[in-house]
Amino acid sequence: MEDLDPFDIAVEQLNKAAKVISLSTEALALLSSPKEILEVSIPVKMDNGETRVFKGFRVHYNNARGPMKGGIRYYEKETLSEVKALSAWMTWKTALLNLPFGGAKGGIVCNPKKMSKGELERLSRGYIDAIANFIGPEIDIPAPDVYTTPQIMAWMMDEYEKIVRHSSPGIITGKPLEVGGSLGRGDATAKGGMYVLREAAKSIGLDLSKAKVAVQGFGNAGRFGVKFSSSMFGSKVVAVSDSTGGIYKESGIDYEKLLEHKNKTGSVMNFEGSKNITNEELLEQNVDVLIPSAIENQLTGENAEKIKARIILELANGPTTPEADDVFFKKGILLLPDFLSNAGGVTVSYFEWVQNITGDYWTEGEIYKKLDHKMTEATKGVLETYKKYNIDPRTAAYTIAVKRVADAMKLRGVYN
Ligand code: GLU
Repeated sequence: MEDLDPFDIAVEQLNKAAKVISLSTEALALLSSPKEILEVSIPVKMDNGETRVFKGFRVHYNNARGPMKGGIRYYEKETLSEVKALSAWMTWKTALLNLPFGGAKGGIVCNPKKMSKGELERLSRGYIDAIANFIGPEIDIPAPDVYTTPQIMAWMMDEYEKIVRHSSPGIITGKPLEVGGSLGRGDATAKGGMYVLREAAKSIGLDLSKAKVAVQGFGNAGRFGVKFSSSMFGSKVVAVSDSTGGIYKESGIDYEKLLEHKNKTGSVMNFEGSKNITNEELLEQNVDVLIPSAIENQLTGENAEKIKARIILELANGPTTPEADDVFFKKGILLLPDFLSNAGGVTVSYFEWVQNITGDYWTEGEIYKKLDHKMTEATKGVLETYKKYNIDPRTAAYTIAVKRVADAMKLRGVYN
């Protein structure tokens, strides 16, 4: 049975890459654990008058390349191990994209679906009160992630500005446009992923206009994944799921209609003309491209042999376990790792931060052009490296990112 502790997985992935680049023992030791961890208790007055105490985390992984960057998750099953793993992955993500940032991540153990708007606002402000000394536009810049939204970012920025008593839009990214957000940030994760998919498909001679696609997840990453794979390439999306279950439709699923159905019923299931399937079945469909866009540990040693896709584009963080990685590599399935595939989000976050601190705001066209350039460069680097060394693409991406972080630490004199 595989050990599915997320941080153990992150360290195992790092160790694999460290061997390929003969990373020094000192650098490996430094990169195998977070720089610092903050755990907080947040008291929140609930609508019924009771005070509930929520547990929150913020993990700083590494800042050798610049201020630390990473989202905040509101998730019922959140654990410190998960936040640590995600902060490590942010470090590799910003390095792979060559952004002047390090990596961090935050999380609150809560179920936002069961909270009112007022309770969510008080929780979000309470979290910022608790971590204000740990973050800053030149220290650690949070952003959205699982179940956190632009509205939540706006409350958090407002709370931070009240504490520091001056305007500070660069404290957080993923904000609504009206309060310093960037054009293109809302759909940036999926858009960036599409540029990765385009380059990868080209490299194996897959014609995306004839491709069948399955998307697991219908949150911010997944829904735009559904939209763009048909609008940008003309691919046919035949299967989609959300946390309640999935659907399959051989003739292709129309994004706008599905969105309307989801908004009306709260689920993608029972969509007209399609058959209901489970989340597990979705992964095993006969498609060319599989896009896991939900949560961790979906592709494991147990189902990897049954995956039929030629390309896996990981829009979620951590959807594949190391055992499954090995199976995909042996089977010749091209897996595009999370910290490449979903890096569009943090890349446009970087653009947002630059716009906030310079006060110079860019058009949507400029953002997408810069995003395309960044994603294409990073993808080409990963594709060249995995072919050159005959290693799996995740390890190839790690070698590039880890080397950049290790070089920065060395130049700073952290180790010799
Ligand atoms: N939460 C996103 C990620 O995992 C975005 C992070 C950010 O924009 O800082 O990459």
